[in-house]
Amino acid sequence: MPTILPTRHQPPLPLDKLILREPPGAEAVEMDVLIVGAGPAGLSCAIELARLGQRARESGSTADELNIAVLDKAESLGEHNLSGAVVNPRAFRELFPDLAPADFPFRQAVGAEAVYLLTSRRAQRIPTPPTMHNKDYYTASICEIVRWLGERAEGLGINLFTGFPVDALLVEGNAVRGVRTTPSGLDRSAQPGAEYAPATDLTAKITVIAEGTRGLLTQAYREWQKIGAANPQLYALGVKEVWRTNRSLDRVIHTLGWPLPTDAFGGSFMYPLGPEQIALGLVVGLDYHDASLDVHHLLQEMKLHPLFRTHLEDGELLEWGAKTIPEGGFYSLPERRHGDGVLIVGDAAGFVDVPSLKGIHYAMQSGIYAARAIFAALREGSESASALASYDRSVDDSYIAADLYRTRNMRLAFKNGFFAGGAMAGLMTLTGGRFPGGRISMEEDAAAPRQVSAARPFTPDNVLTFSKLDAVFKSGNATRDTIPSHLIVGEEISAEIADFYTHVCPAGVYEQVNGRLRVNAPNCVDCKATDVLGPRWTPREGGSGPKYRLM
Ligand SMILES: Cc1cc2nc3c(=O)[nH]c(=O)nc-3n(C[C@H](O)[C@H](O)[C@H](O)COP(=O)(O)OP(=O)(O)OC[C@H]3O[C@@H](n4cnc5c(N)ncnc54)[C@H](O)[C@@H]3O)c2cc1C
Ligand code: SF4
Repeated sequence: MPTILPTRHQPPLPLDKLILREPPGAEAVEMDVLIVGAGPAGLSCAIELARLGQRARESGSTADELNIAVLDKAESLGEHNLSGAVVNPRAFRELFPDLAPADFPFRQAVGAEAVYLLTSRRAQRIPTPPTMHNKDYYTASICEIVRWLGERAEGLGINLFTGFPVDALLVEGNAVRGVRTTPSGLDRSAQPGAEYAPATDLTAKITVIAEGTRGLLTQAYREWQKIGAANPQLYALGVKEVWRTNRSLDRVIHTLGWPLPTDAFGGSFMYPLGPEQIALGLVVGLDYHDASLDVHHLLQEMKLHPLFRTHLEDGELLEWGAKTIPEGGFYSLPERRHGDGVLIVGDAAGFVDVPSLKGIHYAMQSGIYAARAIFAALREGSESASALASYDRSVDDSYIAADLYRTRNMRLAFKNGFFAGGAMAGLMTLTGGRFPGGRISMEEDAAAPRQVSAARPFTPDNVLTFSKLDAVFKSGNATRDTIPSHLIVGEEISAEIADFYTHVCPAGVYEQVNGRLRVNAPNCVDCKATDVLGPRWTPREGGSGPKYRLM
């Protein structure tokens, strides 16, 4: 059987465009602290930092109020955020000690929960693995969490600049001095059109990279500064839908097995979001072996299984979306997450525990630690790496590192398939992570060979199952048709590679037409899966991409 090696066809990271050694423009906006990304990590960092300043002034400090800005590429807060989500409220409690869980932007407390092993027709309930218990947690929409955190941040005087994608880091020597945003109003051939607005430079003493999964700035900063990790970061792609239901769900459900092949790592989730809505999704590790595996199509097929179908029939698809998850865990954490004038927080740093599918509270907690380190450093009048190193120490001494260490080899065990991985993961749980000892070493996802095979035919019924184009419509994506492509495609893309890309992308961006690759770039929902396995993703004009409300 012919194979494809994705890494061979992937263009290099455009480092010279991402790390700019030029002085900021004369019109540059000056801030004390810049935060790139208004997700839970970035917003928690901003809120904690503003509060620290507020408390210091209340107790007599004469220091000036900090000028803090959070930039996000989405047109409005939350529109580019996607999660499951079952939330561990721990970091919420730390950030808002005066509030009760009922005040937090959650949909409902987790009641019962169940894990099933699926075959194409049956669902066998299995004991819930300890890593998957969700007692005392809450289901939520991350879009709602982000909007709620944004309101708190605005109330504290933080500047929220939405619709401002960051295109590059401005650097001087080894230090990060600020960022440059994307220009807007370019035509298809990247020439200024009637609505053209040039890029904006923003400078700051400290820049926090909170750009989430498969961050471009993080990749560039790490490559530039040669910051390694024991293992490369690994990713999964999650495709998710929110449905209005007439048959409410009384429990949090996770499944393993079908519709995934046994040599792929992943599983599904179905969560109640109050009595009338359900979130469901499928998450698949991007080191799968079959070149025609298509996560969107597998999710569509999965909804026809009685376990899901019962809750979806007579309902309505409200929203669709997709996003990658960093799932390498402890051994993929960058050796350092701080540098001169810069810190990396949340998913950008890889703080996700995949066995429990949790990242929100780690993202928030890392943002809180970053804020404390920044506040202390600025008080000392320094923004150097050594002044900011306390951030890494706080993370390493915290439950973030402890949790990820406990499950350090669990995802990695699945590189040899579902059954071998499942058996090893069971032993790891029993031994508190000590089995098998040492580190299971991994290659990056793009280095896993793919076997070329014929794709299974898929015809949507437009009732329970939908094409990629209809799905993108449900993401609210309203990107201008005439913007230049933001995807950098490698050279000499054969029909086989083009076909592989059409399956990787859940949003129908890639098509194979007469053996050649066609790129429908405006369809992109910024999930970053092809940045992991194929064409490079770069930021495009502000407000492009999805407009999630419920994800
Ligand atoms: C399918 C799925 C299910 C999940 N389920 C759960 C769950 O049940 N529980 C849980 O705890 N976690 C879950 N997670 C993980 C969780 O969602 C993440 O860990 C969490 O959202 C990370 O927060 P963050 O702030 O680091 O990144 P994000 O939430 O991704 O926020 C990053 C922000 O940066 C912005 N951004 C990116 N690049 C740029 C740029 N260049 N310029 C400007 N802005 C930029 C983005 O628009 C975004 O708003 C799930 C993830 C997925 C994908
Ligand atoms: S082109 Fe966009 S939507 Fe498609 S896989 Fe890449 S990032 Fe995701």
